[in-house]
Amino acid sequence: MNNLIKYELRQIIESVRSYVELENYTGGAVVIKKDDSQDQSKGALLKEVRTEVFACSACPLHKTKTNFVFGAGSPDAELMFIGEAPGYDEDQRGEPFVGRAGQLLTKIIEAMGYKRSDVYIANVLKCRPPDNRSPLPSEVLSCHGYLGRQVQIIRPKAICLLGKFAASAILKTDSTISQIRGKFYDYNGIKTMPTFHPAYLLRNPDDKKIVWQDMKKIMAYLKE
Ligand code: URA
Repeated sequence: MNNLIKYELRQIIESVRSYVELENYTGGAVVIKKDDSQDQSKGALLKEVRTEVFACSACPLHKTKTNFVFGAGSPDAELMFIGEAPGYDEDQRGEPFVGRAGQLLTKIIEAMGYKRSDVYIANVLKCRPPDNRSPLPSEVLSCHGYLGRQVQIIRPKAICLLGKFAASAILKTDSTISQIRGKFYDYNGIKTMPTFHPAYLLRNPDDKKIVWQDMKKIMAYLKE
């Protein structure tokens, strides 16, 4: 076994250990601590998680990132989008989905009748993987608690998962996006729909119409 694989295995074991500790602590679900913070507003609770993220050193990505990218939008959003990880532009600006894929996502959000500031946008990872490589399982596990708490605090009516990393992190599935897109799944009582990632749409513009079909289903559900 080479050193890189050994290092990666150690990281995974460490991440699983912290995740199991968190699940034990919360009784199986990643929930907000039951203390006087229950009385705080969603914005204040998100700020607490943001402060923790800004001090995070749970995986090596904190050393190579420029900025943490926590998430952006309304704490009271009825719709939340979850992407994969910050890219170059997001890492530079500390904001999710502001590069080319982000501009396409903004167009989709506006076509749905929202402003970016009406919805909430977050990523599975809060730090950019070097050279935009795919997130490692250990990184996803290290960051998972933060995303779980963001969802738990915002409790949107619907979640849209952008791409396979968001789908596998939230729905714990290995299925491809083509297999699972366009249908609602349950995530802790929240209707959650996977669809293609906007970066994929930049490479495959013909599939924009498929994503629009998915968005129409989300819009119909949000109007109910
Ligand atoms: N791709 C993502 O998944 N997230 C971003 O924030 C930007 C690009």
